[in-house]
Amino acid sequence: MSVDLKIRDVRKEYGAFPALNGVSLDIRQGELVALLGPSGSGKTTLLRAIAGLETLDGGKILFGDVDASSRSVQERNVGFVFQHYALFRHMKVFDNIAFGLRVRDKARRPTESAIKAKVLELLELVQLTGLEKRYPSQLSGGQRQRVALARALAIEPQVLLLDEPFGALDAQVRKDLRRWLRQIHKETGHTTVFVTHDQEEALELADRVAVLHKGDLQQIGTPDEIYDNPATPFVYAFIGESSAIPVTVQSGAAALDGAPLPVSRVAAEDGPARFFVRPEDVTVKELNGSSTVAGTVAALRRTGAYRRADIEVGAQRSRIEALLPSDAPISVGDKVGLVFQRYALFPADSAPATV
Ligand code: ATP
Repeated sequence: MSVDLKIRDVRKEYGAFPALNGVSLDIRQGELVALLGPSGSGKTTLLRAIAGLETLDGGKILFGDVDASSRSVQERNVGFVFQHYALFRHMKVFDNIAFGLRVRDKARRPTESAIKAKVLELLELVQLTGLEKRYPSQLSGGQRQRVALARALAIEPQVLLLDEPFGALDAQVRKDLRRWLRQIHKETGHTTVFVTHDQEEALELADRVAVLHKGDLQQIGTPDEIYDNPATPFVYAFIGESSAIPVTVQSGAAALDGAPLPVSRVAAEDGPARFFVRPEDVTVKELNGSSTVAGTVAALRRTGAYRRADIEVGAQRSRIEALLPSDAPISVGDKVGLVFQRYALFPADSAPATV
């Protein structure tokens, strides 16, 4: 039976190094949450803490209303899938999937015929019916990860934990498995925590995405919230693409080297700030007085269906990237005017946006 997961002010240090700085996060029953962040942000540490594989230096983790802190890995009954197939090489697919049920103590162990029924049902779910007599070495990477998922599901886990499960597979297989996992999740409804450093994977798969950076939870929200309203410079820089340029805010208006920026909703405090904008939110027009920001086209690139332009603005020639139709009549050296649809201003001294 799947449960709510409540992560309360969880801290973990390795020696003097803080891997988790007090992370709090509620995951609802049946929800699929992606933990997203660059290498070293604490994703795996948090996942292992949920599983009971790490002792906490502070905070607690509740499974439903039960404080799991003093519970063993077995008692927590979590299903775990790792990046590198942790299948037993000497066991056939069938026995790999049955493993978690067979090692249960006698009182909780199902009969062999119940185990068989369960394994066959799971094989069908992960679309591997007929392959139960194969050994892991006789399967593709994607098939192995599907076996690993079936094995994790066999114990009917309270929580399903997936640590970069598709990380070792090539791009196309990864994409297929993402859709497949989404489907399986819909059918089975397990509370699921999925670790990835791939923002596309997180946005596509998850009901909500939790963004971690250096052991801090920067933001949690739906993929739309995270993409459309990044809460911090880090999230802006890490999710999707963006340009960031230095500006100044004074009395509710933003200025670039003294020239007013034609942007509204300036909620930032007076002082130096950084202006963030995504390439798809930059429109390139003819220069038009104060309603556009003056720039010079510094570089043009063709990327697939679009052209991308680097446009230099201000005395410091800061670069803003714009996404243009492939036939946009524009050349390097053109003087242009920029208009911004969506953007954000953050104080210049807020956490660095570097990823
Ligand atoms: P990756 O995507 O590279 O796995 P991650 O976000 O999962 O990164 P963690 O594995 O949680 O990051 O590690 C967080 C930090 O804690 C890293 O700086 C790592 O070096 C450190 N760390 C993790 N495990 C240990 C350990 N057993 N001993 C010492 N430091 C550790």
